[in-house]
Amino acid sequence: MKRHTLSTHSPAETHALGRRLGEVLEEGDFVGLSGDLGAGKTHFVRGVAEGAGVPLHEVSSPTFSIVQPYQGRLLVHHADLYRLRDADELYATGFHELVSGPGAMIVEWIEQVPEAAPADALRIRIDALEEENRRFEIAATGPAAAALLSRWIPESKD
Ligand code: ADP
Ligand code: MG
Repeated sequence: MKRHTLSTHSPAETHALGRRLGEVLEEGDFVGLSGDLGAGKTHFVRGVAEGAGVPLHEVSSPTFSIVQPYQGRLLVHHADLYRLRDADELYATGFHELVSGPGAMIVEWIEQVPEAAPADALRIRIDALEEENRRFEIAATGPAAAALLSRWIPESKD
C-alpha cells in the first residue's frame, strides 16, 4: 500500500496542501478524512475545493446536510459524517449512489462508517500534535488512490 506522512505547521500550510490535492483531483477519486474535532479536516477540504476550482464562499462545514455538492472544474461532493446516527441514515442521503456517480468525493469523519468508503480510496488521518503542528498520515488503498497520491505528492514512495 502506498503511504506518505508529512506535517504542516500552520492553517495556511494545511490549506495550501489541500489546494494542491484539489488541483490534481479527478472524476471518481474518493478521499476519506479522519481525526478529532479541530484536527483541521474542514480547513483542508476548503483548500481542496479551492484547488478544484470551487468558489471558496460556497464551502462550509455541511452542518445541516450530511453531504453537499460543489461545482468546480469537476463536481466535488463534501460529506461530514460527524452527526450521522447510523449507517442507515447515510443510505438515505444517497451517499452510495454518489460514490459511483460523476465527480469526486471528500468525506470528513469517514471512521464513523468505514465501510462507506470504496475499496480504492485515499485515506488521510490528521492529528493535532502541538499548537499549529498537524501530522498527516496518508494511505492509498487501491490503484486510483495511488495514482492520485503520486500526482499530489510526487516524492511519495510505494
Ligand atoms: P475539523 O474539521 O477537523 O474539526 P477544522 O478545520 O474545522 O477542524 O478546525 C481546525 C482548527 O485548527 C482551526 O481553528 C485552525 O485554525 C486550527 N489549526 C491550527 N493549526 C492548524 C494546521 N496546521 N492545520 C489546520 N488547522 C490548524
Ligand atoms: Mg470539520
